[in-house]
Amino acid sequence: MDFLTECTKCGKCKEICPSYEVFLNESFSPRGRLRLVRALAENEVMSGNALKQRIFSCLLCGACENNCPLNIDVCNFIYKTRAKTKKGFLLYLFKYFSFYPGLFFSVLQLLNSSKHLKSLLNYPRLTFLHRFLTVPVKQKQQDFLQVYTKLKPAGRIAIFSGCSVNYLLPSITGSLIYILNRLNFEVIVPKQYCCGAPLLSAGFKKDAIKLAKKNLKTYKSFNIEGVITTCPTCAHFIANVYKELAGEGISVLNIADLFEDFNFSINSQDKAIVESSAFFHASCHSLNYVKDADKTIKVLKKLGVADIKKKQGCCGFAGLFSFLFEKQSMDILRKKVLEYETADMIISSCPNCLIQFKFAMKDKKIFHYVEVINKILLKGEKDGRTIKF
Ligand code: SF4
Ligand code: SF4
Repeated sequence: MDFLTECTKCGKCKEICPSYEVFLNESFSPRGRLRLVRALAENEVMSGNALKQRIFSCLLCGACENNCPLNIDVCNFIYKTRAKTKKGFLLYLFKYFSFYPGLFFSVLQLLNSSKHLKSLLNYPRLTFLHRFLTVPVKQKQQDFLQVYTKLKPAGRIAIFSGCSVNYLLPSITGSLIYILNRLNFEVIVPKQYCCGAPLLSAGFKKDAIKLAKKNLKTYKSFNIEGVITTCPTCAHFIANVYKELAGEGISVLNIADLFEDFNFSINSQDKAIVESSAFFHASCHSLNYVKDADKTIKVLKKLGVADIKKKQGCCGFAGLFSFLFEKQSMDILRKKVLEYETADMIISSCPNCLIQFKFAMKDKKIFHYVEVINKILLKGEKDGRTIKF
């Protein structure tokens, strides 16, 4: 409770809150939400639809926490309040599909399989699903442990793909395996489960704990240097939030740090990639928690992507937010589309931002940074030239 009473109402959190920016109402700002959480705890207000709207329209982006001079952990208060809130049908549906992402993507595949079924996606509550159809829904990668060995490996790294990569953009995992092998690491891809972030965001803490324990058990069973994930939300969740949920986190490595240990020169480059004017979109979790954007940009520059500028700010996806508040999600996305108009290529470390951008900007080259690195390295190899590490 202390933090709730300590807030000085300075408003630094409100300035950068993407939710406040679209709702333009104090009670939809971080400090407004904190005030409501406190009022609820002190029985000044009753839980009802109006309160739920304000608590569930937070994107859990962490921008407020990062800007707060008192480091008030706003998201934690939001998580706790959501956990205590009575859930309706929509949240249970969201929970079910978060627990069984394979089923969710199979249903989506089915709906997309015929004109008649596809028309169902025009029902108001389902229109948010259109963004997933921009990328082909693919079969999940093999459902068993895969090992990509090296003769004398520098170490062993496990991959945590995350659901969006696993079901919608699996070539990102393929690129990561290739890069890690090129850096001489043995790579392990265990059977993949959701990290649990969607469940916690919907207020299902016990279910999120179940997934945290399942993932901890899996990844602890390998003798590994650490885990690499291609999703900054998963990275933050399994490294940091698991500590709160399950008492310990999974050690997460950053691919840019691995490149630091190598001196490399590139003799051949993919011109279509390196000569593009690129924006690196630092997603909310990348910017506010994982803080990997600057390091990644440095690696991309070293590999030849010279014209690259860092951009930041919410893309409007935020999982549950885009489901419950599709209009506002699209409003946030539209602003980004205008801002990114001048770039030929958009690179990000977040698969969900990529899905948003692929949906809204079909004419642009939109890649995960591991895909860009992979393309540059592969081109060098195809041309028969040496890439020295
Ligand atoms: S920045 Fe921190 S102290 Fe200032 S209003 Fe927001 S939560 Fe309160
Ligand atoms: S986490 Fe993001 S959306 Fe939620 S209150 Fe903080 S800044 Fe606003």
